Amino acid sequence: MKKIIIANWKMYLSTREAVLLAGKYNDLKSPHSVILAPSFTALSGVEKTIRGNGLKLCAQNIFWAEYGAYTGEIAGLDIKQIGCEYVILGHSERRKYAKEDYETINKKIKVAIKAKLTPVLCIGENLRERRSGHAWKVLESQLKTGLKAIDKKNIIIAYEPIWAIGTGNAEDPVDADKMHAHIKKYVGKSTPVLYGGSVNNKNFNAFLTQKNIDGLLVGGASTRYEEFKEIIT
Ligand code: PEP
Repeated sequence: MKKIIIANWKMYLSTREAVLLAGKYNDLKSPHSVILAPSFTALSGVEKTIRGNGLKLCAQNIFWAEYGAYTGEIAGLDIKQIGCEYVILGHSERRKYAKEDYETINKKIKVAIKAKLTPVLCIGENLRERRSGHAWKVLESQLKTGLKAIDKKNIIIAYEPIWAIGTGNAEDPVDADKMHAHIKKYVGKSTPVLYGGSVNNKNFNAFLTQKNIDGLLVGGASTRYEEFKEIIT
């Protein structure tokens, strides 16, 4: 079954490296919907490289206002104009380093939808929350605030347990599937729910074969050509 696989290149690659890597992925045939999320400076170059070849483009963030006096920020309408169809919002690294909360993320989702971008809303519990048995309560609260007054048909959810991101310690695929079932119950069956957190060429299939997992958000492994090739082909 066709899944959604997003490559989150974070700030790992230079603009030049991102364009070169996109060019290599361009030559591959994937049964899945593959979406590349380079950093802002590489969006335009990657767009030109993948144009017409089936790969889609995603930004890693936008600002919560449409346009205005916001020095250093990037507008959703602008990234739409340069060919982006998706935007990752609320990634745990932005929640940590840019102190974003779900009220702000909710505003960003609204701006994204207005710009006709599909938001990829990231949710996930930390290790303390997981160990105390409160993971679902945390996710439910993130969903409630993040999706306030938003039509859930227009979005993608990425479930990314914070303790699994970049640690090499992925969630157990069967446990992830159970969490996805909860999330799907909350957002509705037609909203895709992706798993993210230390996905690699060894474990990806165990996630993709779960009933409630509609795809993957892949960080580090998506910057390594041979490894990501195995995941998407
Ligand atoms: C991510 O940043 O969204 C992510 C899942 O990273 P990694 O695959 O490197 O854990």
